[in-house]
Amino acid sequence: MIPAICVVGRKNSGKTMLIERLLPELLARGRKVATIKHDAHDFEIDLPGKDTWRHRQAGSTTTIISSSSKLAMVRLTDGDSPLDDLLRMVDRSYDLVLIEGLRRSACPKILVHRPEVGDPPGVLGDIWAVVGTQMPDIDGNPPCIRPENVGALADLIEERLLGGPVQTPAWNLPALLAEAGRHHGHICPGQVLGVRMAILGCERLGIYDPKSSKRLITFVETDRCGTDAVQTVTGCTLGKRTLKFVDYGKLAATFLDMDTGRAVRIAARESARDAALRFAPDEADAHAAQLRAYKALPADDLFSVREVRATLAEAELPGRSRARVVCTACGEGVSNGRELSVAGRTVCRACAGVPYYDEVEAAVGVQEHQDGTL
Ligand SMILES: [Zn+2]
Ligand SMILES: [Zn+2]
Repeated sequence: MIPAICVVGRKNSGKTMLIERLLPELLARGRKVATIKHDAHDFEIDLPGKDTWRHRQAGSTTTIISSSSKLAMVRLTDGDSPLDDLLRMVDRSYDLVLIEGLRRSACPKILVHRPEVGDPPGVLGDIWAVVGTQMPDIDGNPPCIRPENVGALADLIEERLLGGPVQTPAWNLPALLAEAGRHHGHICPGQVLGVRMAILGCERLGIYDPKSSKRLITFVETDRCGTDAVQTVTGCTLGKRTLKFVDYGKLAATFLDMDTGRAVRIAARESARDAALRFAPDEADAHAAQLRAYKALPADDLFSVREVRATLAEAELPGRSRARVVCTACGEGVSNGRELSVAGRTVCRACAGVPYYDEVEAAVGVQEHQDGTL
C-alpha cells in the first residue's frame, strides 16, 4: 500500500492551506504525491442538469466521466469508504498520499492547531507533528512546527515514512565539464558557470534526468559560451524546440518544467568576478582564477535565483511543426506561423522586406523584389 499521512484538525484550522504549502515542497523534492479529501458532510460534485447527474437520476450507482486530460468517478456508497479502498484507487507510481481529514484512520497524523478555533478533536491516534504556533494539550510529545516551515515537515515525512530523502544522482561536475568542453571546443569560465547554472536550475525544479524526462524547456539569454554548457547539461536544443534564445546579452537562463508549470530564472551575479579573484588571489590572471573559483564557490555566491512565470505559446511547443505555408514571392516553405501577410499575400519575412542578408546575384524568379515590390 502507498504510504499515507493524514492532515487533521478543527474546521478552519488551516488544513487545506497546509496541504497547499506542503505539496509543492514534496514535489520539488522529486516525490509524486496524490491527495485525498475526506468530507464529513455530503459533498456534491454532480451539478443538477449535467449529463452525469442525469445518468445518476436514471439509476446509475457508479458514473465515470472521462476526457483526454482527466477523469472522475462518482460512486454511491453506504457510509464512509474504508481507507484501504481509497488508497487502492491511487496508482502505484505515487510515492505518498496526503489525506485531508480521516482522523480515525490508522495512518499517522499531522495535527494543525489554531487555538482560536478550539481544542483539537479527540481520537487522533499517532500524531507525528503539530503544525501551529502553540502546542495544544495532547498525549505524547510530537514536535511543534510553525506553519511556514513546511521544509521541516517534509523532512519529517521523508524521514519517518519514505525512508529518507530521495537519493538524487549527484551531478558529476568534472564529467559534465569535460562533456561541455568537447561540445564547446574549450573549457572556459563560461562553461563552468553554464554547467553549474543548468545543474542549479534542474535541481530547483526537482528534475534529475533532464535529458530523458522531456519536461524541461530552457530560455537562454546569451549566445556566448555559457549557453553551450547549458545545452550540454539539459539536453535542450534549438532543433528540438526545447531551447529558446532571447537575446538579452546576459549570462542567465530560465528553466521551465512543462509538467508542473514551475519556472526558475537563474542569473550569474555581477559580483561573481570579484568573488573569483578573492577566492584565488594567487592565480596569474583573472581567467585562471575564475576557472578555479567557479567550480568551487557556493552557488549562492555565483547566481541569483528567482521563481518566475514563463509560458510558451502553443505555436512554440516542442513536437511536430504545425502549419506550413509556401511564400507566394520566393516559393520557399515557411513553418510555425512565421509568415506575414502583405497586401493580402502570404510572404516569408525576407520577402516582406526584412531579410538579414542582401542578394548578391538575382536568383531566377526573385527579380521582382529587387526593386522593392513583391
Ligand atoms: Zn568559451
Ligand atoms: Zn519569400
